Amino acid sequence: MEANARRTDSAGFPEPLPLEEAWQRLKAHLPPRRVEVLPLETAAGRVLAEEIHAPEASPRFTNSAMDGYALRYEDVAGAGPDALITLAVVGESQAGLPFSGKVGPGEAVRISTGAMVPEGADTVVPVEEVEVEESQVRLRAPVRRHQHLRFAGEEFKAGDLLLASGAELTPPRLGLLASVGIGRVTVFRKPRVAILVTGSELAGLAQPLSEGQIRDSNSLMLAAGVQRSGGEVIRIDRVPDDPAETAKRLQGAETQADLVIFSGGVSVGPHDHVKPAALANHYQPLFWRVRIKPGKPMFAARKEARMLFGLPGNPVSAYVCFTYFIYPLLRYLQGFEFGHRTVQAVAARRVENPLSRDHLMRIQLSGKGEHGVPRVEPLSRQGSHMLTSLTQADGFIRLPAGGRVEAGQEVSVYLFP
Ligand code: AMP
Ligand code: MG
Repeated sequence: MEANARRTDSAGFPEPLPLEEAWQRLKAHLPPRRVEVLPLETAAGRVLAEEIHAPEASPRFTNSAMDGYALRYEDVAGAGPDALITLAVVGESQAGLPFSGKVGPGEAVRISTGAMVPEGADTVVPVEEVEVEESQVRLRAPVRRHQHLRFAGEEFKAGDLLLASGAELTPPRLGLLASVGIGRVTVFRKPRVAILVTGSELAGLAQPLSEGQIRDSNSLMLAAGVQRSGGEVIRIDRVPDDPAETAKRLQGAETQADLVIFSGGVSVGPHDHVKPAALANHYQPLFWRVRIKPGKPMFAARKEARMLFGLPGNPVSAYVCFTYFIYPLLRYLQGFEFGHRTVQAVAARRVENPLSRDHLMRIQLSGKGEHGVPRVEPLSRQGSHMLTSLTQADGFIRLPAGGRVEAGQEVSVYLFP
């Protein structure tokens, strides 16, 4: 899949790909989405993988829009300031407890909002517009035929399309499905993700640190990133920098996973074993090395329906690359469009990129500038080993190689999950 042979740099490694090219390769090799059937109670936020047609009409029966009296229009057509009309109240229709009889000439039935309109009645007069005395109502105000009725089927008919495939199940949409008795829906499945962090220097939170060791922060950060992107983390494993071990752990992790995310071990050092392990396990590379800062060593590959990503080990590079490549893929697999989640903002000051790679520059969104558009403040700390620069950032902007953004210029901000 790695298209035509690429030029190599002076050290014999492939020249990094333009970011756009890496993105297009991913887009051209998106894995298939999977579906599952869920009870409505657990489907909030999921995306429908089926069309939903109404199994019944709404409203199911004609009912009252007001608390008042159901009556026959022809009995009260003449009501007005000078014509007092009196009707006999012969019963009540409550919500859930309909009146069993029929409304005859000169009769009215007390009715509640949502209650079934009894046979014979065709109009409702609100309680505020009548005088009641013993079992009689009097009205003086003019009445319109059919007023305050909600007619059976006026919202939709049985068989009408209620929700298209691709609709996100928002609270109102869940309410709509419940209102017509649909209790199970076919939705896109949450992608299952295995996270493998490589590095013989890494220790877990509970482990004591020996000399030269550092704490593994990527596995927690990436797992939280996957969860915030709607994915399901099925495994987290720490892998020492050993070729055989890396290949073996990949085999152990991939069986249940739709996505395998490696961190570290993907660069050009002698202890970087992720790419060979992927190749040995028959993954087809999509790209390796991208013309970006941070994140040049980024690796992506695919085996059948399964994707593998090799993120650089530097925490900042890992999270920026996760946001640029993996977050959109996780959203896509859940039924959303494949694309970046961005907001438009205005640069608070001029920034330049003298490098020959695109700079994914961490920024902070601050307040509102002109016309309510948020302002972008580039963060001064951009070192890819400094997690603090990430904790203050809302996302990043893409500054093309050799490019710049002037103060006041509009830019797209790629938002972190
Ligand atoms: P690598 O991409 O494996 O060369 O790692 C680049 C840098 O990121 C090194 O300084 C590693 O120690 C650091 N690093 C790698 N993995 C992690 C991790 N899981 N947590 C924190 N730092 C890491
Ligand atoms: Mg490493």
